Amino acid sequence: SEKDAALAAASSTAPADTPTIFDKIIKKEIPSTVVYEDDKALAFRDIQPQAPTHILIIPKVKDGLSGLSKAEERHIEILGYLLYIAKVVAKQEGLDDGFRIVINDGPSGCQSVYHLHIHLIGGRQMNWPPG
Ligand code: 5GP
Repeated sequence: SEKDAALAAASSTAPADTPTIFDKIIKKEIPSTVVYEDDKALAFRDIQPQAPTHILIIPKVKDGLSGLSKAEERHIEILGYLLYIAKVVAKQEGLDDGFRIVINDGPSGCQSVYHLHIHLIGGRQMNWPPG
């Protein structure tokens, strides 16, 4: 699948500041459907949606945050901010009955893009346990 190809291409061992496709999305060098933007955060629709609503919320400045496992104390503020923006976008999308937030980390977590991102997924019934 596309996801498998992305997983194979991604490297969890690359330096934490190695650019990813999300840098190009931030700079508008490749198109995306932006649903929220401010000076610190960008939210855009996932190119391979897993539900009627599937949005990625990312920090505009990566600052070494290739994944949650690389978080340091200096990242606490942006991490909280991104989670808050996820809630703002969920409301904007009308997900009043609930939604799911996911952060994949590393190979076992199925992470394919090494620039921290929060998945906001909704618009259908979620199941537990996840795959
Ligand atoms: P991860 O697998 O790292 O948790 O999530 C990466 C997500 O980025 C995947 O859901 C994938 O579909 C999405 N993605 C990868 N490349 C692009 C792209 O160029 N544009 C958009 N909008 N989403 C992308």
